Amino acid sequence: MIIAIDGPAASGKGTIAKLVAGHFQVPVLDTGLLYRAVARDTAARGRPLDDAATAEAAARVLDPGTLDDPALRGAKAGEGASIVARIPGVRAALLEFQRAFARQPGGAVLDGRDIGTVVCPDADVKIFVTASAEVRARRRFLELQGRGEEVSYEVVLKDIRDRDERDSSRADAPMKAAADAVLLDTSELGIEEAFAAALRVVEERAAG
Ligand code: C5P
Repeated sequence: MIIAIDGPAASGKGTIAKLVAGHFQVPVLDTGLLYRAVARDTAARGRPLDDAATAEAAARVLDPGTLDDPALRGAKAGEGASIVARIPGVRAALLEFQRAFARQPGGAVLDGRDIGTVVCPDADVKIFVTASAEVRARRRFLELQGRGEEVSYEVVLKDIRDRDERDSSRADAPMKAAADAVLLDTSELGIEEAFAAALRVVEERAAG
């Protein structure tokens, strides 16, 4: 069973994806990490992040073994990711890796922005996780603070809004819910409730 979980930054999709994958004991891929790593590797080549040729070259030789780099989790890495993610050659270079991951025999969970629309349009279950920008900013602010990053709520909220705008307005694979995705708004839900709601969606779909 392939489970596609999409949604904007800090919607809770990553946590839900991990919990769902743990429940069904299938592997999970946080596809945002791929774009974050491409941004890291483009910068390491001394080039600006919107240098399409360099970013595409970095995407083609991306080493998935480097995705557990803690530096990829920071706020700056997310911003950088959304810049390289606009480059069609970068998206194309990352596509096959994501599809191969999804095709694993026992199934897989993938979370991102375009899993249900582009990467796995035939996924068995598609969930689009949302929450208000303010709720997402509050979550991200607390998370970054917890990791010792010096940030203000206002700056995090602006970053979230800018990133939503960049991700949903790009020409290639913009962030949007697939027509057959189930919407899950987590604004008023704790993580356990959000997980339970996602599980209900999966079980309903699996039942037929
Ligand atoms: O999910 P995360 O915040 O790690 O994603 C970072 C950025 O990578 C997103 O803002 C988006 O621009 C890009 N991304 C994407 N497609 C995906 C996953 C992430 O364009 N499937």
